[in-house]
Amino acid sequence: MFVNVSEISAYAICPRLCYFRMQDKIKPTELHAVREIYLSKRKGFDESWAFERFSQMFSDDELFERALNNFKFDSSLELLKPIDWEIRLKSEKIKLRGVLDELVEFKDKRFPLVLSLRCPKEGIWFRDRIKLAAFCMLLKSNGLNCDKGFIYHCFDGELRVTDIGRKERYYVLKLIERVLRLKKGFVPEKTKNAKLCEKCDYRDVCDSKPSTFASKFL
Ligand code: SF4
Repeated sequence: MFVNVSEISAYAICPRLCYFRMQDKIKPTELHAVREIYLSKRKGFDESWAFERFSQMFSDDELFERALNNFKFDSSLELLKPIDWEIRLKSEKIKLRGVLDELVEFKDKRFPLVLSLRCPKEGIWFRDRIKLAAFCMLLKSNGLNCDKGFIYHCFDGELRVTDIGRKERYYVLKLIERVLRLKKGFVPEKTKNAKLCEKCDYRDVCDSKPSTFASKFL
């Protein structure tokens, strides 16, 4: 059984969000839409191409329009040479797989780049750090050593870079274990950060879902 990078980054936001997304895989999010916009622009295509790509997978034109209106393409991206996009990576050893948004070259070295919506005041969100750590680990098991990665925040037009060390890689392994246990059907606890729930798509169903005794150990 494998865990997806998107599942561990959802778990890092809220374990229960990860659980709901695993049950409800086809629901489009703003991140799905911005990914198509970003990739199309980086590959030299326009917005209508991005819409074509998005609409082959999802039928939510309003969501795409909203993402397009908020999307910012910043010139700082020109510092990074695109090498490849949407790279499928897998490691049997750590039971992890994922699709990397972009592999870039900077100062003759190659690094993963992942997409996010908005940036915090400083640094990067924990969920994005975990995502990059996971991709560094997957790239390493596919022969490319990297100890840092880039995050492009599509709604702020902000490119940031972060180092990835032992702590992050260790945390990725812990999250893989937790998500694997979720796949056995436990309903995890709600997040303690009530602010997250205010904008969550699963708020109603979440309020009606009881926790299991077993989930307290996740
Ligand atoms: S409503 Fe809150 S606890 Fe429930 S899934 Fe969403 S963020 Fe998590």
